[in-house]
Amino acid sequence: MSQLVYSSKINKIRSFALILIFVGIAIMYGGILVKQIEWLMATFFILGVLFIVSSTVVYFWIGLLSTRAVSIICPNCEKPTKMLGRVDGCMHCKQPLTLDKDLEGEEFDEKYNTRKYRREVKQKQNDNQ
Ligand SMILES: [Zn+2]
Repeated sequence: MSQLVYSSKINKIRSFALILIFVGIAIMYGGILVKQIEWLMATFFILGVLFIVSSTVVYFWIGLLSTRAVSIICPNCEKPTKMLGRVDGCMHCKQPLTLDKDLEGEEFDEKYNTRKYRREVKQKQNDNQ
C-alpha cells in the first residue's frame, strides 16, 4: 500500500507560497551579485518582486480557501483539521478523509476531486436509468 503521502491541500499550498518567497529572495540576492550590470540587476529585482507578490496572492488565496474548508475532528488523531473538496488529508497525521459516503473505504485518490471523475459518475448514473 502506498504510504499515506497525501498531505492536506492547505498545507501543500502553504509550503508552495513559502517556496515562492524563498525563490523571490534568492533571485533578488542574485540581483545584488550582478549589481555592476544595471539592466541585469533590474531584471533580477523585478523577477524577485514578482515571485514575492505571487506568494502574497497565494497566501490570500489560502485565506479564501480556509473560509470554505470544512472543519472536522480527525477520526485518527482526534485533532481538529480542515478539509477541502471531497477528499483531503488530515493536517496532523495525513489520514485520508472524505465527506462522501460513497467513497468511504475506497482507496484514496486525488481523482475524486476532479471534474472528470464527477462527470463519469454522473454518466454512469444516467446509463443505469
Ligand atoms: Zn489526523
